[in-house]
Amino acid sequence: MPHSSGGGSHSGGSHSGGSHSSHSSSRSSGGGSSSSSSRRTSNQPFKGAKRYLYYSNNKPYLVYANYDIRKTDYSSLISYIIIYTIFFLPILAGVFWVMISSVHVPKKLDYFENKGKKPEIVIEDNLGIFEDEKALKKSMKAFYEETGIMPAVITVSNETWNEDYSKLENYAYNTYVKRFHDEAHWLIIYSSSYKDNGFDDWYWEGMQGDLTDPIITSERAYKFNISLQNRLLQRDTYSVDEAIAATLDEYRPVMMKTYVDTVRFVIFLFMFLLFSGLSVLSFFTTAKPKKAPENYRNAKLCELTTVYQEACGFCGGVYIIGMHTECPHCGAAIPAHHYIKDAQGNVVQIM
Ligand SMILES: [Zn+2]
Repeated sequence: MPHSSGGGSHSGGSHSGGSHSSHSSSRSSGGGSSSSSSRRTSNQPFKGAKRYLYYSNNKPYLVYANYDIRKTDYSSLISYIIIYTIFFLPILAGVFWVMISSVHVPKKLDYFENKGKKPEIVIEDNLGIFEDEKALKKSMKAFYEETGIMPAVITVSNETWNEDYSKLENYAYNTYVKRFHDEAHWLIIYSSSYKDNGFDDWYWEGMQGDLTDPIITSERAYKFNISLQNRLLQRDTYSVDEAIAATLDEYRPVMMKTYVDTVRFVIFLFMFLLFSGLSVLSFFTTAKPKKAPENYRNAKLCELTTVYQEACGFCGGVYIIGMHTECPHCGAAIPAHHYIKDAQGNVVQIM
């Protein structure tokens, strides 16, 4: 559906078009607790724990843990990745997208070219006020060739619409929909009547098709409106058609220029850098995998019910009998022992 690109009147100045595109954005808020079952070590056995044997300062130690104490802890990295993916990443992507979309690179509209038919140039001066229709037509054609948007210019008297419509904008909308079955036209309606006191009571309204939005951005339409309004106020210099032609000529080269919404770009660039920095920071503070402590890395699962210690005959280091064939401290072979084992194969007594 077309929408107003703005307009103006003799007494009221120019106004900008209504907001048309409402970007509805829904963001799913993800969450949920992702705490991995807590890792626990203890000197005492507890439910779910296994017993590990490790050595420190040539002495054996036993520790109970509900996780493999020899392995690097990736649990915080995994939580980080989950939280990052459902929460941080969409925000970061959104911020990045808004940042990039503040750079407008207008592409010539190919609507009519794709249809394979050149659109008719509509100039309808029902008021009979145009002084150089040929020149206006030339300007409209040039505007079309540059942008792919076909302007149309119609003049009417105020009586044509002011009984049925409260605003020229509504009449312009209806005229657009009735006349143009596309969204690639830019209709400019100029309306006027002389009041009894001789005051020229004129209004004008632009109606742009949705396809023209990336080219006639609201900022450009706004500037166009001010420029056209100023020319329409200089009736000694410009006739109405000349004012429209001159403003189309003025904005034809501007319409296709790459345009950066600098304020938006800078704000979102700042936000993007901030979020990126936060993700890096939170990675190093919370997500870094924790390596197992040095002592734990060579730990062994120890399921012996009874534990006997013995000192190595070579290095004097203490080890647990039944867990090694070589001394865990110096690597010397451990002499054979005479064990008494229980039904499960555990050492219960040394002879
Ligand atoms: Zn030894």
